[in-house]
Amino acid sequence: MIDLINVCFSYDNKTDALKDVNLRVDNGEFAFIVGSSGAGKSSIIKLLLRENLATSGTVIVNGYNLGKLKQRQIPKFRRSIGVVFQDFRLIPDMTVYDNVAFSLRVTDASNKTIRQQVPYVLELMELQDLARKYPQEISGGEQQRVALARALVNDPPLIIADEPTGNIDPEFSYEIVEMLQAINRCGTTIVMVTHEHEMVKYFGGRTINIEDGEVVFDGIIGGAHESE
Ligand code: ADP
Repeated sequence: MIDLINVCFSYDNKTDALKDVNLRVDNGEFAFIVGSSGAGKSSIIKLLLRENLATSGTVIVNGYNLGKLKQRQIPKFRRSIGVVFQDFRLIPDMTVYDNVAFSLRVTDASNKTIRQQVPYVLELMELQDLARKYPQEISGGEQQRVALARALVNDPPLIIADEPTGNIDPEFSYEIVEMLQAINRCGTTIVMVTHEHEMVKYFGGRTINIEDGEVVFDGIIGGAHESE
């Protein structure tokens, strides 16, 4: 669960990036955060991942009050979130399989767990045939599916996807959102940040619109594909 209460955030140069933001995303929800460039989307993500601290207000993520989080608790907190980035951030000299397995290895998972979980999430993301390929040998859409598998393999309660379709050909962008929706149907909370308003209108659902550091809309919109 995410709860932002009266959150303000200013960069050192006094840019007010977020102004009194109130936002709650309950467990099991799928929420789009939309807004144009400079609206404050990245600033929200950096607060949610505890890369930055709110200038004022309260940020609670997965039960952690981030303003009170001790430095030594940060790694455990971060492991409670799967993060997917616009630029995939796969390790180039590791295969698809090893990129996903690595995410489990850093948590000291047993070899048995790795042998069970990695094929399972690769299959979920329809990547089983690409397990031995390297990132540069597969398409952008496939690389992002590997990043999704990697985010999913630790079974986090929350996945944050930061412009996950930004570097993908449009015809495969929708597939990534559909996979995020499928993950959500299994219970994982998803927050997806995007500036692609058209895509949000297509899928519909909980949509939080940020402009100039403020929440200007927060509600459910009907998806275009539902009326097709
Ligand atoms: P978005 O992700 O929606 O494009 P950002 O959160 O990056 O928006 O930016 C919100 C505001 O904060 C903008 O006015 C931007 O110029 C400013 N900003 C972003 N990053 C920094 C930074 N590192 N230092 C100072 N100002 C910043």
